[in-house]
Amino acid sequence: MTIRQINTTCCIIGGGPAGMMLGFLLARSGVEVIVLEKHKDFFRDFRGDTIHPSTLQLMHELGLLEKLLTIPHSEINRASAVVGGETVAIADLSHLPTVAKFIALMPQWDFLNFLASEAASFPSFHLMMECEATGLIEHNGITTGVTANTAEGPIEITATLTVGCDGRRAVSRSAAHLPLVDHGVPIDVLWLRLPRHASDPENGLGYANYGRLIVLINRIEYFQVAFLIAKDGFDQIQRDGLPAFQQNFTRIVPFLSDRVGEIDSWDKVKLLTVQVNRLTQWSSPGLLCIGDAAHAMSPVGGIGINIALQDAVATANMLTEALLSNSLTPHHLQQVQHYRESAVRNTQRVQVFAHKILNRVLHDPGPLKLPMTLRILTSIPGFKHLTARFIGMGLQPQHIRTRPKSL
Ligand SMILES: Cc1cc2nc3c(=O)[nH]c(=O)nc-3n(C[C@H](O)[C@H](O)[C@H](O)COP(=O)(O)OP(=O)(O)OC[C@H]3O[C@@H](n4cnc5c(N)ncnc54)[C@H](O)[C@@H]3O)c2cc1C
Repeated sequence: MTIRQINTTCCIIGGGPAGMMLGFLLARSGVEVIVLEKHKDFFRDFRGDTIHPSTLQLMHELGLLEKLLTIPHSEINRASAVVGGETVAIADLSHLPTVAKFIALMPQWDFLNFLASEAASFPSFHLMMECEATGLIEHNGITTGVTANTAEGPIEITATLTVGCDGRRAVSRSAAHLPLVDHGVPIDVLWLRLPRHASDPENGLGYANYGRLIVLINRIEYFQVAFLIAKDGFDQIQRDGLPAFQQNFTRIVPFLSDRVGEIDSWDKVKLLTVQVNRLTQWSSPGLLCIGDAAHAMSPVGGIGINIALQDAVATANMLTEALLSNSLTPHHLQQVQHYRESAVRNTQRVQVFAHKILNRVLHDPGPLKLPMTLRILTSIPGFKHLTARFIGMGLQPQHIRTRPKSL
């Protein structure tokens, strides 16, 4: 069988937030890029949906914010939790130093399609859908490209730089044997939909009581529901039966009681496994991993997409010139990790700490009382603004430093 061969400057594995943003930015500056995405479209329901103020700021810097916000979305500028029936404000984004002081809740496939269609106007951008990377091509310890399968058969793509943006089960990092530290996570998430009525609360709400934790993400016509469970607890929940599962909603979020009957089959409930891990080395000669491929993030705080996009912007800022002038060295790649790693590690530390609290709630059959520490914390002036900064902007917000090719 003949194997098709293609050559490019940068081959990006994975068309998630990190891969699409990096592909967009590099191509915008004139770097030849191929993005490989194994699925035939971006339409998957189990991706996060949050576009944070710092990402909206990036879109503003790219001159694309207004256009992006014409896509149907909802906006939240406050996040609160209902703990044991008592509502506490967790974050207030209305004071952030960004043009958009809200989180846009937009299905991620819409955001990725938007990036893909904007990137398509750059002649050096190439997106290959239904193209699954199967391994790396190596010569003398240097990654020189990617092997992949397409509907038309196998291909080999040689590249000056390969970037692994292929998420938590990355082929890139396993093929390169990059060392991984796993933090262990005590929770998983059940993912389902329930209809939303116009009179329902709009802003982000988490509900905790009686050993249950439910997060409602407003997708305008319906709620995307995250139902947190103890790790490996789904089998027991299924054995307890659908009526018992439905009752959780009636008990914890009473206004949903008129629609829990919609959950009439376990097929409507997807188990999403939560992981938190990180590579201790993000690169090897010719290869760099970013986003979840370098550091899988938990859904806690809804910040993983933001971090992946910030990795992509930092990578473009740091590597574009070297790629354009063909002067890329392993040192450039190490610098990306050096620059981003502490922000990522500290964010993961906060997520791991949050898991401990959430796990305690899941093992307390309740009724839950608002813990004194949370009561004190939320009453401190400035707390809601601090959490808003962490959630909305992250620990190391990025700015677009690269220029479009024509300038
Ligand atoms: C249950 C759950 C809910 C979450 N909710 C949120 C949320 O609301 N907000 C938030 O900010 N974060 C959320 N996160 C975290 C967030 O999903 C990730 O941190 C983020 O998606 C990472 O982006 P990425 O581009 O690095 O990787 P991914 O989004 O995982 O994208 C990787 C891409 O690579 C493709 N791919 C994989 N392997 C190959 C291959 N071999 N060849 C070609 N393509 C390949 C995949 O199809 C995918 O498109 C959630 C996580 C979980 C587990």
